[in-house]
Amino acid sequence: MKAHDGLYIDGAWRPAESRDVIEVVNPADEQVIGKVPAGGALDVDTAVRAARAALPGWAATPPAERAARLAALRDVMTARKDEIAETVTAELGAPPQFSQTVHAGVPIAVADSYAELAATHSFEEKVGNSTVLHEPIGVVGAITPWNYPLHQIVAKVAPALAAGCTIVLKPAEDTPLTAQLFAEAVHEAGVPAGVFNLVTGLGPVAGQALAEHPGVDLVSFTGSTAVGRQIGAVAGAAVKKVALELGGKSANVILPSADLAKAVSVGVANVMSNSGQTCSAWTRMLVHRDQYDEAVELAGAAAAKYGDRIGPVVSAKQQARVRGYIEKGIAEGARLVAGVPESPRERGCFVSPTVFADVTPEMTVAQEEIFGPVLTILRYEDEEDALRIANGTVYGLAGAVWAADEAEAVAFARRMDTGQVDINGGRFNPLAPFGGYKQSGVGRELGGHGLAEYLQTKSLQF
Ligand code: NAP
Ligand code: MG
Repeated sequence: MKAHDGLYIDGAWRPAESRDVIEVVNPADEQVIGKVPAGGALDVDTAVRAARAALPGWAATPPAERAARLAALRDVMTARKDEIAETVTAELGAPPQFSQTVHAGVPIAVADSYAELAATHSFEEKVGNSTVLHEPIGVVGAITPWNYPLHQIVAKVAPALAAGCTIVLKPAEDTPLTAQLFAEAVHEAGVPAGVFNLVTGLGPVAGQALAEHPGVDLVSFTGSTAVGRQIGAVAGAAVKKVALELGGKSANVILPSADLAKAVSVGVANVMSNSGQTCSAWTRMLVHRDQYDEAVELAGAAAAKYGDRIGPVVSAKQQARVRGYIEKGIAEGARLVAGVPESPRERGCFVSPTVFADVTPEMTVAQEEIFGPVLTILRYEDEEDALRIANGTVYGLAGAVWAADEAEAVAFARRMDTGQVDINGGRFNPLAPFGGYKQSGVGRELGGHGLAEYLQTKSLQF
């Protein structure tokens, strides 16, 4: 795999001040596939200065010209789609087909949506005797995870560019090659020097330096709730804006009137996709007690079919974490109906598709985000009980409801404390606001709501 030995700062690849490096590992065979610099606080400072210097020019660039750069970025990403997919497969381990359609396809769609929004959004509005200007918030510090390595980057960088902000990105240490490829695409798209900067590095070093930097006006973070909490505290102390996209433990509520077989099969696929490493995955399936045994049987059979079709998880560390949760589920009395706690292969960071039945709401596997291919199935007595269980975690990122009648499903969805609900298997919408209730986060990404995060208002009175 191609890897740059520098950081992309102020429009060029430059040697890092720090001598540390990150070895990038392919989790399918655990071979090192590249080395990138692990930037330090000094490197972050250089990048933030470049972003600050570029801010006045980019903020004053007409939205139509910013839209043209975003359209060019979409076109470069489209032209390099195969390369993107291969890179994500190599460093994340996702199956090639999934890398093509989702890991490369979705960020292209999101870049496209912001090319459109930058061109059409009104950056000015009239309110009574005032004109309200929507101005870029400034320099953005973006910190992203590895699970959807390009999507998470584009979901921050594209709206920031559309808004007129400049950016310093610190991507996940496990997936820096995808971030480097994205920096190349930004360069090829003709985005001016300093507008986008990339510092690869470690979270507690480069990530923390970026979150703490006084030259950053907004920190946008996606990752674990534990780190998000720290970043929120740092940003709060400095009175800077913060956007947090954190974990989830989403409920897939199958109401008694639903098409059970369909709801279970789509539900299992949702959890196994990306080897379970999806913050919005429906990791808790809620089934009425009268249909419970049938649902468990269907889910176990469906999961068994995924055996060879899912990729590894991202790293040996993640594999150990997921296996720890599987052991914990067994110890707490959940019944394993698919999967084994051991690694299913001799080499590579694989976890077998796992389904737990007889899961009760207070069990660790029903409360904590596992981030692996592990589905829990919980039994409910009636609709009120289902709602209590669905809302009974600290998270509220996503969810699903299935019923024979759409209105019945919608009525239930209205009572769920969560940021997104898919009704009877509704499709992903790249324009719909995405983000969490409760401890799943602060702020929204994607579409017009995502763009608004990068703007601040100034009211002129006449
Ligand atoms: P993480 O530690 O929260 O990492 C997310 C990003 O934050 C990475 O770029 C990370 O850098 C950086 N980071 C880590 N510590 C930091 C700090 N003190 N200051 C600033 N930035 C910091 O998540 P993870 O280790 O990749 O995964 C752990 C768990 O988080 C997963 O098992 C999963 O439950 C959850 N997770 C959730 C999402 C989501 O989309 N909601 C995504 C990924 C993970 P490094 O890459 O160097 O650690
Ligand atoms: Mg980490």
